[in-house]
Amino acid sequence: MTDLANTICALSTVAGRSGIAVVRVSGAQSIAIFLKIFQPKRRFDQVPYRRAVLGKIVAPGGGFGIDEAIATCFPSPNSYTGEDMVEYSLHGNPVLVTALLDCLCGQGARLAEPGEFTMRAFLHGRMDLAQAEAVNDIISATTLYQAQVAARQCSGTLSRQLKPVKDILIDIIVNLESAVEFVEENLQTASRETVVLQIDRVRRQLEDWIATYRQGRIIKEGFSMAVIGKPNVGKSSVFNALLAQNRSIVAELPGTTRDLVSEFTNLEGIPVRLLDTAGIHQSEDYIERLGIDRSLEAIVDADAILLVVDRSRPHLHQDSILRQQVLHASCIVAMNKSDLAPAWSPEEERAFAGDWPYVQVSAKTGAGIGELRAAILQGLLGTGGIQQDSILITNLRHVRSLEAAETELARAMKSLQDGLSEEFALVDLHGALKKLGAITGETSAEDLLTEIFSRFCVGK
Ligand code: GDP
Repeated sequence: MTDLANTICALSTVAGRSGIAVVRVSGAQSIAIFLKIFQPKRRFDQVPYRRAVLGKIVAPGGGFGIDEAIATCFPSPNSYTGEDMVEYSLHGNPVLVTALLDCLCGQGARLAEPGEFTMRAFLHGRMDLAQAEAVNDIISATTLYQAQVAARQCSGTLSRQLKPVKDILIDIIVNLESAVEFVEENLQTASRETVVLQIDRVRRQLEDWIATYRQGRIIKEGFSMAVIGKPNVGKSSVFNALLAQNRSIVAELPGTTRDLVSEFTNLEGIPVRLLDTAGIHQSEDYIERLGIDRSLEAIVDADAILLVVDRSRPHLHQDSILRQQVLHASCIVAMNKSDLAPAWSPEEERAFAGDWPYVQVSAKTGAGIGELRAAILQGLLGTGGIQQDSILITNLRHVRSLEAAETELARAMKSLQDGLSEEFALVDLHGALKKLGAITGETSAEDLLTEIFSRFCVGK
């Protein structure tokens, strides 16, 4: 996949019938092929770079006309990939697209692998690896907020914030290296302490970034919440009330099944999969037991629990059993049917909820549903809410690299504190720098790149 000598081509828009289909070509041959297969409506003396040109795509050698299209040529290095590129916008018909791709391949191009355009952009220094990964996140986003977070990373936020930290680390390394080089100038105890402090500052910074992953993962991947409770407390009603807002603007996440009891909603831009365990309850005891077992299975898989109780009926043993079952989960209690006279005292409600947040709601009138959504969001993201400007780690690979770097820094500090030779600390400091470099792709093995870009779609 890293063979840059080939000229590659692919359909970059969705396959199928559409108003327009965009076919991209990148590589040294792309302009030469364009000149052979494209007959412009108005002749030009020089290749019209960065200008949309109307014309006809015709297979060369007296071949057939494929389609009327608009072509745009982008010269290297000012293109997406950094190579010469041509983009053809033709009618969105798979037959025409296939004919064009055949024609391009007949002229020496080959079909691109998934993510190959972006990989070339990375290899030509048009973007670093974290930015390239963010391109895929923008495409995969299911809410506007997810896309915005990814766009921030794509514009280089993460890379920019990493740079000064790496610079400090390089400074520390250079100082220690010179201490090792000139043995007689071995670091004094006082300077050792200063270096340890410097390393610790970097380490704390990494720790802060690592801590953002909890929120970053939720924003990127969404989360699931099982709605549980005993029969007739209003689980389905609360489920539907929560879905009633924003239901239509949430796209389905790939790889998740949509069944009768699971729906997506959008909580401030975070896709939330609600699992309604209500449908699985029946009235006979045995079935009910089965229902509770099924609910418990859902609980194990869910990231959080919404425990619904009916506050218009006395607190029953069954409520307590369920409460006990989810005691260690991240849970919010919805005290439902607040439109009816309460059978629970405020103290009973508070005692039942314990450390969990609880909200009085009426699924029937909609009262309290907004507060419930806010409580769910706060339970997920903490009181700070969504991080708007600061760095947010959303990628597992990045957090793993940060963790590995942080471990190496801690080791370096320890060997300096234990009075070992600076060389021991240097091994770890170099290791940490390499781990940070891996995030932006300065130090990435080819198989890692192949793994990352293979998750992209063809044509990107
Ligand atoms: P589930 O078995 O827990 O899923 O409960 P349902 O959602 O099917 O509701 C059980 C019954 O309670 C239905 O008759 C609902 O109309 C009623 N119900 C649900 N929520 C409320 C509410 O907030 N207020 C009132 N008055 N009735 C409700």
